[in-house]
Amino acid sequence: MIANLLGKTGVSGFKANLLVVDDHPNNLNILAEIFSQQGYNVKKAISGEIALAIIHTQLPDIIILDIKMSGMDSYTVCSILKESDYARHIPIIFLSTLDAISEQIKAFKVGCADYIIKPFHPEELLIRVEHQLIISQQYQYLQKEINRKQQIESKLEFLLKTINLISQAVNFEQALDAVLSELRQIIGWDYGEVWITNPEQTELYLSKASYDKHDQLLISFAQASRKYTFPYGVGVQGKVWEIQQSDWIEDIWQVKEHTFLRWELAKNAQLRSILTVPITLQKKSLIILCFFTRSPITYNIELLDFINAVALELSEFIQHKHTEEALKKANQELIKLANIDGLTQLANRRCFNEKLSYEWQRMRREKAFLGLIMCDIDYFKLYNDYYGHQAGDKCLYQVAQAIAQTCKRSTDLVARYGGEELIILLPNTNLQGVIHVTKLMQEKIASIAIPHQSSLVNTCVTLSIGITSMIPSQDNSPESIIATADKALYQAKAQGRNTYCISSPM
Ligand code: GH3
Ligand code: MG
Ligand code: MG
Repeated sequence: MIANLLGKTGVSGFKANLLVVDDHPNNLNILAEIFSQQGYNVKKAISGEIALAIIHTQLPDIIILDIKMSGMDSYTVCSILKESDYARHIPIIFLSTLDAISEQIKAFKVGCADYIIKPFHPEELLIRVEHQLIISQQYQYLQKEINRKQQIESKLEFLLKTINLISQAVNFEQALDAVLSELRQIIGWDYGEVWITNPEQTELYLSKASYDKHDQLLISFAQASRKYTFPYGVGVQGKVWEIQQSDWIEDIWQVKEHTFLRWELAKNAQLRSILTVPITLQKKSLIILCFFTRSPITYNIELLDFINAVALELSEFIQHKHTEEALKKANQELIKLANIDGLTQLANRRCFNEKLSYEWQRMRREKAFLGLIMCDIDYFKLYNDYYGHQAGDKCLYQVAQAIAQTCKRSTDLVARYGGEELIILLPNTNLQGVIHVTKLMQEKIASIAIPHQSSLVNTCVTLSIGITSMIPSQDNSPESIIATADKALYQAKAQGRNTYCISSPM
């Protein structure tokens, strides 16, 4: 293991960088010689002060420190280094002629890694140094691993948070908003933005930007960016849209102006690295995320993977929302189909019956009048015979729409009851009110004056109308109010048509 780790020389060609500190030049040279011969890169310091100055300019991998020195003593040098941030990881080996146990304890208390008593055998010294180097390397490796794991953990934590934010968002806009600023802050970049395709899918425009709102340069950058659009294949965003892959420019200041269209703007805002990630939706990129930093950052696959994972999450959310929307639409369409009559675009009989029983109950509770009008086009068979069935359909549609326009209250319902028969439900309307609506209907039909040459009562289309109004009670029923209005309609026909008759409940 030792041979394995230290047998190889580092990038510099040396086994390790070593600093020996001794106030006796002779001792210093002997020590340096022992290590140089073994392939170490050795630096020498004749005092504690010089040692600290050397360490400041270049950190050694290990320090051999003589315990007894004039000037700054070795305990102080060791304490200073162990309390510092930059050098606390460097192992320090004390050399001493003193074998008093109390001196050793004092040395270990200030943080030394090992303690060698003079006179020593060079081989012992070498082995102990190698041991310390291995421990130090392992420690540093572990530290790096711990840091890496902590980073992964915090990213995972963010990913979970993101998934939560996205799943809680009411719509895509809200999800994007939340994710953009969270993501920018977790990766520690200075500026984030979202580009979205226009409805025609021909170009991208800036939809959202996230940045420190006190930063005047970034405010200006965002404002100026809003004036830009990027067609398919143009600019970094357009290219990312086209190739469906992320793009990382490590330093836009180093690229030519034409490769990054907002080069001047970015430079003014002191932005340098830019990462552009597509959010793909059914093989089309609809959304492009861009992040900028002020310090140039080299390509980092881990960061890219992380942002791509968030992008994937967002993409799934959009697809989910789209499916949800499509289902909702299909559902609404079904409900409409189930309730609307295709020819007249009025409510159908099924819908009318439902509304009638609801309003019946409601008026019964309120002890209020429920009005009903039934009307039938006069001599419609003759109309069809004369003008043709298609013209008959058109006429029926026009009559239906005209009648629908005369009923203004939100609770009124005009429906096609069957054939050329229409029915109008008027909650909270007494007989006087129903007569008023009936007259409006008659006027309206007269005003649209649909020619009816074959009619035996008029030259235009007319209606026969049966009306009634009653307070629902346990003595009558929804069926009875229809029967009453129907009876009145029959009377109107019998009286010669183009008129209305009133019938009271039996
Ligand atoms: P009356 O004045 O007694 O009501 O005479 P009428 O001809 O209107 O009555 P009848 O019940 O004899 O005939 C109703 C006609 O309405 C039969 C049919 O040709 C026509 N009709 C019913 N539904 C439709 C439709 O959806 N489209 C068309 N074009 N005609 C319809
Ligand atoms: Mg008729
Ligand atoms: Mg009829």
